[in-house]
Amino acid sequence: MRLFNTQTQSVEPFAPVNGHVGIYVCGVTPYDTTHAGHAFTFLTYDVLVRFLRDQGHDVTYVQNVTDIDDDILRKAKERDMAWDELAREETAKYRRDMTNLNALDPDHYVAATGHVPEMQDIIVRLLDQGLAYVTNGSVYFAVEKDPDFGKLSRLAPEEMLPVANERGNFPDDPNKRAPIDFIMWQAASPGEPTWESPWGPGRPGWHIECSAMAMKYLGSTVDIHGGGYDLVFPHHECEIAQSENSTGVQPFARTWMHVAMVDYQGDKMSKSLGNLVLASEVLEQSSSDAFRLYLHSNHYRTQWAYDDERLDFWAGVAVELAEAAEFPAYGVDDMLDAGRQRNRFMAALDNDLDTPAAIEALREIARAILQAPEEDDIRRAQATLRHLASILGLTLVSPA
Ligand SMILES: [Zn+2]
Repeated sequence: MRLFNTQTQSVEPFAPVNGHVGIYVCGVTPYDTTHAGHAFTFLTYDVLVRFLRDQGHDVTYVQNVTDIDDDILRKAKERDMAWDELAREETAKYRRDMTNLNALDPDHYVAATGHVPEMQDIIVRLLDQGLAYVTNGSVYFAVEKDPDFGKLSRLAPEEMLPVANERGNFPDDPNKRAPIDFIMWQAASPGEPTWESPWGPGRPGWHIECSAMAMKYLGSTVDIHGGGYDLVFPHHECEIAQSENSTGVQPFARTWMHVAMVDYQGDKMSKSLGNLVLASEVLEQSSSDAFRLYLHSNHYRTQWAYDDERLDFWAGVAVELAEAAEFPAYGVDDMLDAGRQRNRFMAALDNDLDTPAAIEALREIARAILQAPEEDDIRRAQATLRHLASILGLTLVSPA
């Protein structure tokens, strides 16, 4: 298979080592309901996992939930509820949405709060090497000590700070030696949950959570590390710094795979802007097949704008595919052969997960089935259609 690697900025051959593929995907922070942007990200990896398994590879798919984080604490306060209750409730909603979208469960769905000792182990190793420092019970990574910092995002040092500040960095934290240094352990604040640590009670920083969970389940080198495009910097850059320096093993991830953002009504779809298309609301009026076809009709690296009217078009396609799969097969003469389209479908996914081209091949099979002479035997083409549709996570169930 060929995949675009954010690290090298090019499409490269991706070959599993010993037939095994370890995939780590940064999951949700559960304070927010699943929207089309989330669905686009996580269903992209769903298709990747399904495709690799179909090719005979043994895949271990890990996704995390950031169940302790500044956003959760803030939101819990706003809603006047316990932070862990909020996290549990929103995680359950997200998982229900993903099930309703016919997404496979990850092999390991892991929570940050269950891996605090592993995070502390990494921090201890970084402190031992002089790459981190403790101030007033908080621990920071000293970015200037790591000459590799920036190798994923390729941002110049002066470009880093504005981006980091937009994405959770506190440049004016008086405990820091440099504004770009990032927090790995945050000393206890009144009213916040805490864990014991060698540096006093506190809670983990966001980036250390993913380093710890990725390496616990997949080892020092992850084959494919994924997430939304907005995680490239600082989140994934910081993960590399923590992971590679603590283990001495490079690379932390062989392929960095990022999914583009989805716009809506002229802006990036986001909770803060309030321009959301919620997965649960889409599924009230439409099938998971229609929604998935619409999402996957966009290539995962292309930023696109969600348009409610386009969903109707893809609902029609979903009906056509289901009709073709269920079309009564009486003919016994010429065997309808969908081998050519099948090859095109597989070649499309093999080429950097080109789902739009794969969908076109699928639609061609459906049309061939529906237009075949009555005496033709369409059963093999129907089996091919069902098989290929399942790789895209489609159920081919007719809407009731
Ligand atoms: Zn992460």
